[in-house]
Amino acid sequence: MPSTKKWTVDDSEHIYRVKRWGAGYFEIGQNGNLYVTPDPFNTDIRIDFKAVVEEIKQEGIQFPVVVRFHDILRSQVALLNQTFQQTIKEAEYQGKYMGVYPVKVNQMREVVEEIVDAGAPFNYGLEAGSKAELLTVMALNTNAESLTILNGYKDQEFMRLALLSRKLGRKTIVVIEKFSELILLVKIAKELDIEPIVGIRSKMTVKGRGKWENSGGDRAKFGLTISEMINAARYLEEHGMADSLKLLHFHIGSQLTDIRAVKESISEGAMIYSELHRMGFKLEYVDVGGGLGIDYDGSQSTNDSSRNYSMQEYVADIVYGMKQVCDLEDVPHPILVSESGRAITAHHSCVVTEVVGEIKAHGAGIATNPADGEHILVSDMRELTEIIDQQNNLQEIFNDASQFKEQALSAFKLRVISLEELAKIETLYWQIMEKVQLRLKDAEFVPEEMQELDFALSSQYLCNFSVFQSAADTWAIDQILPVVPLTRMNEKPTINCSLVDITCDSDGKLDQFISEHGISNIVPMHNLKADEDYYLGLFLTGAYQDVMGDMHNLFGRLNEVHIFSHDDDPQDFYIEEVVNGSSVEDVLSIMQYHPSSMAKSMKKMIDGHVAQGQMKPREGVKWTDFYEDCLKGYTYLKT
Ligand SMILES: *Cc1c(COP(=O)(O)O)cnc(C)c1O
Repeated sequence: MPSTKKWTVDDSEHIYRVKRWGAGYFEIGQNGNLYVTPDPFNTDIRIDFKAVVEEIKQEGIQFPVVVRFHDILRSQVALLNQTFQQTIKEAEYQGKYMGVYPVKVNQMREVVEEIVDAGAPFNYGLEAGSKAELLTVMALNTNAESLTILNGYKDQEFMRLALLSRKLGRKTIVVIEKFSELILLVKIAKELDIEPIVGIRSKMTVKGRGKWENSGGDRAKFGLTISEMINAARYLEEHGMADSLKLLHFHIGSQLTDIRAVKESISEGAMIYSELHRMGFKLEYVDVGGGLGIDYDGSQSTNDSSRNYSMQEYVADIVYGMKQVCDLEDVPHPILVSESGRAITAHHSCVVTEVVGEIKAHGAGIATNPADGEHILVSDMRELTEIIDQQNNLQEIFNDASQFKEQALSAFKLRVISLEELAKIETLYWQIMEKVQLRLKDAEFVPEEMQELDFALSSQYLCNFSVFQSAADTWAIDQILPVVPLTRMNEKPTINCSLVDITCDSDGKLDQFISEHGISNIVPMHNLKADEDYYLGLFLTGAYQDVMGDMHNLFGRLNEVHIFSHDDDPQDFYIEEVVNGSSVEDVLSIMQYHPSSMAKSMKKMIDGHVAQGQMKPREGVKWTDFYEDCLKGYTYLKT
């Protein structure tokens, strides 16, 4: 990039790839701010993220903040259902689509309620995988038409709850994960005299590709083998309940990166369905599970954080794949169920954090002017800084400087040079490296050793958040999440950096970023200004990240704002709800502390000091109040 050309938002797009991962919801505006278009069917509504940040500040809500765009949730629900409906029509597929949202992906009440509401016109249902989730979906899924699918391991109580839900007229399907569950279900159903709807989960031979490939295959944790499925069907038949067997389920993994795995699982699943049909078990539903991926890194590839297909393609492969096998085998087209969670929720929420400081790679350095009788290593190094501008052989300079630095370190250990001389040598060394790096910017070829200079010279931007609370998968499974500045994208970002959080854990960092050329360990950000806050958005956190975080270092849940868009609003949006994050008291209580007795004990200590005349009474009251205020306060930095 020649320095004479003015930086534009298109240049920023090249770095941050917003359009690629933004799926039509996010883009860079001409003013350099990030914009949100929450409804693809109403592109007149464009929300300036900077205005959202301003409003959050005005409301006195502390950062970091989770920002939820409920309209994006609604859009994704509609998009998935409409895509299935349209494809079914085009394919002249005889069954319909009845999807469910798996609540484990984001169980927040507001999220599930919004999905249920947006899904009502499509009879979109819910999926639960544990007793707590089952209790939740029983209360929330009040639509008599939509499905409630129950996966996961089950006990007696679980079965009783499922049957209660049947008694109340719900289409609740118990999916059998292991054979003993079937025996339990049949027994309790007979006792209660309630007819269950039974599904069986197949242990597929096809494996997903990517991080979750072990959800399929012989070593899968869930599901029945072919012979177990046959035994299960016969067991139901023997108990006069063959008609209860209605659904075949499979789920080969989440974030399926390669469409071929989807195709293979559909043909395998369709064959099993057809065979069971021919054996006389007239199943009505085939549930293809979750797995619809998200292109987190914008590469449209089989990278772990990407996928090589679109939602349209995924849906078409399911509908046409199922139709083809069923027509060939001459069995009815089943009702299609899918359990997409990630694809429904990932886009709708993000974390906004402010950068609270820059940690420079090598500090500020010290003054390096010549001193009487200084060691020759210092003058040699200084000489390099003087000749570098005329020198064409950068490799030689690089080599000499590296050698002098190493020698200086040994010399210091042998007490040949002083600490101050060592500091001068280091300061000069990094001045040289910065010059080398600058001159290499326009070079056609950069030797490998020197390629690492960009990283060595990069800064760390300290961000007010915790990776473990807000982006657990970046740490646990190297998931990539897009990070972009919310403003100033019409300005050239001049600081190469990685991001670190405020936990006392060296793993509390983000150092994998989307870049022009694949994944990079640094990302260019803008220089920090003394009089202007700099906010970053961590995007696509709505699936799993929102709910899987932990309280490492006792950093608790984030404050949340729920944004709704509205045509009539001058800014196209309003904050519908604020959900307070954890206070220090909240997180301490979870760890078995008693914050009120802690406050009492502090008060006693302070009172003691006051009684002994070591503190004025007025001062004592102030300190007592301060301690209590901090207990009630937010766990993150107050900025
Ligand atoms: C986790 C899970 C899902 C959700 O998968 P996504 O990849 O998030 O769509 C669906 N079904 C089952 C059985 C699951 O365990």
